[in-house]
Amino acid sequence: MENILQETKFIMKKYNIKANKSLGQNFLISEDVVKKIVDSSNIKKEDLVIEIGPGLGTLTKYLLEQAGKVICIELDTKMLTILQDRFSLYDNFKIINEDVLKVDLKQLIKQEKEKGIIKNVKIVANLPYYITTPIIMKLLEEELELESITVMIQKEVADRLIATPGQKNTGAITYSVYYYATSEDILEVPNNSFIPEPEVTSKVIKLNIRKAPPVNPKSKEKMLKTIKYAFMQKRKTLLNSLTNNKIFNSKEQGINILKSLNINENVRPEELTLEQFSRISDNL
Ligand code: SAM
Repeated sequence: MENILQETKFIMKKYNIKANKSLGQNFLISEDVVKKIVDSSNIKKEDLVIEIGPGLGTLTKYLLEQAGKVICIELDTKMLTILQDRFSLYDNFKIINEDVLKVDLKQLIKQEKEKGIIKNVKIVANLPYYITTPIIMKLLEEELELESITVMIQKEVADRLIATPGQKNTGAITYSVYYYATSEDILEVPNNSFIPEPEVTSKVIKLNIRKAPPVNPKSKEKMLKTIKYAFMQKRKTLLNSLTNNKIFNSKEQGINILKSLNINENVRPEELTLEQFSRISDNL
């Protein structure tokens, strides 16, 4: 790999780019980190890679060498000329100038798969941190035909996403992610790996989409809603949270359901496994 710092400075100067804070622009300048992201994504020639927020194209350049096709989704119009100038000679490169949250990814993937060349779809991104959670939840909840999601995000958020339900540092989102994917902790990334430096430490994580869910509730929506409401009020017991939020019709109903499932009525939501949430929602 060439010197990414020099290359980034050169491109920023040439195109008169100043990082736009409100778009979460922190450009990668560490060769080691770029290499680790690309390697851990395990990209093959039959893969379609969707890169969210390519920015100046630092990761894109390496993704294009390895993937069958790379589709970049970038909101900042200023980046478009740069990306087109850099990669117009690649016939496996496509760019969509749009807010990723508004893109119909299901349709996009369907269209690409229908062409018959692409087998698997992988997401790779150094995400804009101001919308980390909505992007990851969109990728998971829309049940896209993805194989994996390799992303750089804030360390604090990363640790919560990849925690194990029933153990430390969990939230409702831990359970959602666990339902859709298994996770890998790839790399902690120091702030000086970017220009400008972000205010928080970062982490690269990989989510491998499950082929089959780990639990089979009667209604997935009901189970995820139960989890969401269970975690809404910090430090409350599960029974109180679910009663206050009207998931249980009454405290008495809650006590009965928990009793029938051998769950202590003083339990806190973070002590429950996904399987237990699944059973509670089945009894509602
Ligand atoms: N991939 C580049 C890198 O690693 O150097 C840039 C990463 S930077 C952290 C995030 C990128 O996401 C920026 O290029 C920013 O313009 C883009 N972005 C911000 N909001 C977006 C959105 N809603 N949809 C698509 N891209 C967005």
